[in-house]
Amino acid sequence: MGQRGVTVWLTGLSGAGKTTISKALEQELRSRHPKVEILDGDIIRENLTKGLGFSKQDRDENIRRIGFVSHLLTRNGVVVLVSAISPYQEIRQEVKQRIGDFIEVFVNAPLNICEERDVKGLYKKARSGEIKNFTGIDDPYEPPTSPEVECRTDLETLEESVSKILTKLTELGYLAA
Ligand code: ADP
Repeated sequence: MGQRGVTVWLTGLSGAGKTTISKALEQELRSRHPKVEILDGDIIRENLTKGLGFSKQDRDENIRRIGFVSHLLTRNGVVVLVSAISPYQEIRQEVKQRIGDFIEVFVNAPLNICEERDVKGLYKKARSGEIKNFTGIDDPYEPPTSPEVECRTDLETLEESVSKILTKLTELGYLAA
């Protein structure tokens, strides 16, 4: 029980809450599953996908590589928590098909809320034109059409978001009830 691997893929705008949820989720999972790993898009872009930019082609390549590593870990019994904007539906689907044991979590907060939070100060830079191709401002974000879980981080608490994901993982048999 509780030894199966799965990829929990958190997609959403910058500042929607992906990193915050994945860290809190990791804490909860530690006591319930022997192996947990976080793959955070911001960190991955400094090593595994260093040098890739923000064109559609590069964004897709970024996701494909993260998906490749997630797959290796997942099939070795790890619960992999991916937090990456991953704005394009098609590549998310591709990765999901390949991994199989995969749940898509739409970390959803309206753009104006993400922009108000401006956790990393990037929206300000995107609005002033200092950064180009910023998701939600001058680059697309394609919302998931049928995510396994949706976390409305402007309406629910962090604990509620984490609990929804844990419930889904339990329902699907990745965690012991
Ligand atoms: P992302 O990783 O999606 O870019 P972050 O996790 O870095 O986003 O930032 C999200 C911000 O929103 C944090 O400052 C966090 O404290 C805040 N926040 C407020 N409510 C929630 C919630 N319910 N879930 C997650 N984050 C929340």
